[in-house]
This record gives sequence, C-alpha cells and structure tokens, in this order.
Amino acid sequence: MKIILSKKMGFCFGVKKSVDLAKKNIETSEGKIYMLGPIINNPQVIEYFKKEGAKVVNDLDEIPEKSTVITRAHGVSPLVLHQALKKKLSIINTTCPYVKKVQEIAAYLNKNGYYIVIFGDKIHPEILSLLDVIHNNAIVVSTISEIREISYQKKIGFISQTTKNIYDFKKLSFALLDKTEELRVFNTICKATTERQRSVLELAKQVDIMIVIGGNKSANTSRLAEICQNQGAKTYHIETKNQMKYEWFHPEDKVGIASGASTPDWVINEVIMKLRDWYA
Ligand code: SF4
Repeated sequence: MKIILSKKMGFCFGVKKSVDLAKKNIETSEGKIYMLGPIINNPQVIEYFKKEGAKVVNDLDEIPEKSTVITRAHGVSPLVLHQALKKKLSIINTTCPYVKKVQEIAAYLNKNGYYIVIFGDKIHPEILSLLDVIHNNAIVVSTISEIREISYQKKIGFISQTTKNIYDFKKLSFALLDKTEELRVFNTICKATTERQRSVLELAKQVDIMIVIGGNKSANTSRLAEICQNQGAKTYHIETKNQMKYEWFHPEDKVGIASGASTPDWVINEVIMKLRDWYA
C-alpha cells in the first residue's frame, strides 16, 4: 500500500492561535474556566480541555459572575460580548483574525447600503455571530437555486464563510451578476482553507482512496471530503483511527490522507500508524 499525505495537514494558523491562548489561560488560571461552546469543532481537543479543567457551556446563564470565559475561534456575537461584560466576566476572545476580518467587511457593506449575501451554512456558529454583527441584515445561501430566487437589487455585497468551497464561491459569484448593477465580491475564504482544498484536490486525483480526518461537525473537514468525492476518489471522513475499517482497503491501494484545520497531529499520526500496522 502506498500512503500519500496531503501537503497541508494539522492545525491552521487560526486554530493554533486559539488553542494556544486557551491552553495558556487554563494553565495559569486559579479559578474555574468556562468555554462558551466548543472552542473549535474537534471533539478530541475539547475532551483534552475538559480533562485540563475547562467547563464547556452553551449559555452565558451557566457561568457565574466574575468568572473567566473563553469564546470560540469561530467568532462571538457582539450581543453576547455585551452580556458577558454586564456579568463582569473576564473574556478570553479567541476569534480567528480571518473571522474578524469577515465581520469587518460585513459591517462595511451594511453601513454602505449593500444588499448582503453570505455564502455559508445557516446554523454554523461563524455565520450566527456574523449575522449578529449586521443585525441579521443579510441572506445566507448555499446553492445556485437560492441565488436565482434573489430579486433584482441596486447593489449587492457578496462574502463567504471562511471555510467554504472556493470553487462553489466562484460559481455563485458569477450567478449573482444577473441580480444587480453593482456587485462587490470579497473573497473571505481564508488562505488556510483554500490551500487545503487545492492540495486535497491534487491528491484525490492521484489515489484510489481518500481518508479525510476531522470532527464530524467541522465545516472545513466536510468540505475537503466533498471535494475528494467530487473528484471521484472513494472517500471516508473519520474523526479518529477507531472509525477506520480494515475492509475499506486493498494492499495495493494508493491511499491519500488529508485533515481538517482543527485536527491535531496526534489524531492524524494514530490513523497513519494504524494503516501501516495493517498493510506495511
Ligand atoms: S480555517 Fe481559516 S478562518 Fe478558520 S480558524 Fe483556521 S485560519 Fe481561521
């Protein structure tokens, strides 16, 4: 069996920054530290933080006054930040700089009267906090048919969730040209996402099977798996080595391995070791 690794693996810059910041604060904190939702979409990393003493909650109501709260890499709503300050919480804001940038662009478009269209997953935390920034003054789409339903607008601003598929974003941008006399497109898909997507596309062309490792709820990992499938490679999206099955493979297969931006190296290494144990 030949195992080929994608050129871009492991934590992206934003995830590394958020995880390091959370680790540092958990290590040095004297009291309990709360996480408002999972800091990143990777259950193994969240388990690690729980073991280190962090408590993951879904609502500010679950956090006692004057405690410390860590917010997600996917961004935090200004409303939530305001409520947290009212509770005198100490806030460790781990929002990725790329996510912050999208929020600034959306605020600019909103201020300048653009009809805002966002390419994104309607219930993804990044999109929910982005919508709060612009007081829900936008529509969120994920398909060409949703673009077709948009009525003619004087000016449209088009942005994307940071982890969306760059190839689909281009198609939707083109479709929006029919809907307005002025279209401003900001490519807000982050560099780490684009690089990973390009490298899995290349890899998927060379192999029989693709193993894409990452959280089931990780948007960027799901997108990588989608790209591999569209390329025709037999693709499995797994979270850990335990989900991998011996019968998926043949000793003469070429197997490509890729991972999402929030998958830690040790989870990736365990998958590679297991494959080598089976077929080396
Ligand atoms: S995938 Fe991009 S936007 Fe998301 S955390 Fe990583 S660098 Fe930031």
